Amino acid sequence: MTQANETILSLKHIKKSFGNHEVLRDISFDINKGEIATIIGPSGGGKSTTLRCINLLEEPSAGEIDFHGKNVLAENYNRNIYRAKVGMVFQQFDLFENKNVLANCMVGQELVLKRSKEEAKQIALANLEKVGMAEYVDARPNQLSGGQQQRVAIARAISMDPEILLFDEPTSALDPEMVGEVLSVMKNLATTGLTMIIVTHEMAFARDVADQVLFISDGIITEEGSPDQLFNHPQNDKTTKFLRNFQNN
Ligand code: ADP
Ligand code: MG
Repeated sequence: MTQANETILSLKHIKKSFGNHEVLRDISFDINKGEIATIIGPSGGGKSTTLRCINLLEEPSAGEIDFHGKNVLAENYNRNIYRAKVGMVFQQFDLFENKNVLANCMVGQELVLKRSKEEAKQIALANLEKVGMAEYVDARPNQLSGGQQQRVAIARAISMDPEILLFDEPTSALDPEMVGEVLSVMKNLATTGLTMIIVTHEMAFARDVADQVLFISDGIITEEGSPDQLFNHPQNDKTTKFLRNFQNN
């Protein structure tokens, strides 16, 4: 939940084209420190591309991304420092298959943050505890359920002490009975003051956890507002139609 009104991240008129396909046409929004933003919208609308621009997996074609007031796209900005502060949890978990759970949560800390093995281990264990995976330290990813793998991926991400954590449909690849355990871990995280931007198709979750909700379609933010505004009083026909389709599913 929102703590202070300090803007941590500000997207200003972000555009992204692949060839002559303009996928993001004009994306602008601010997120305050400790705030939770959820992003909803139809498939192909540009949600993933927005996240991938934020963590610089994609280079925006135009616009500005300000982190603590500094444009990370500027020539002289140290992108490595920024990248280390922006974590991401993917739909497909993306754990290292050849490493056990503990090693998965240690390797980034050692390589990127230059933490000692012992320190990395203690931090990994504490975070595995938080997501309920401490008893699986020796397991390989392929020995775990999807829900368990995703909880490890979350522990790995928070072990890097991110200032912002991005989630791209973290429960979409899961069997239905495992969605709850992952959402519950994310709800707990949301109370710790971590800034989170979450793309999700779980509408009840998107409503309950968010400070602000963004509806992205056709490469623009078609509508944004508080969960109450977006879900109970949508102003845009596209939002209304999208939400109606969800209720019917
Ligand atoms: P969403 O996550 O909302 O479903 P995406 O951001 O993944 O939408 O995709 C938006 C549009 O951009 C889609 O039409 C998709 O095909 C296109 N797109 C995404 N990534 C690439 C890429 N690397 N190259 C070409 N087109 C892409
Ligand atoms: Mg996507």
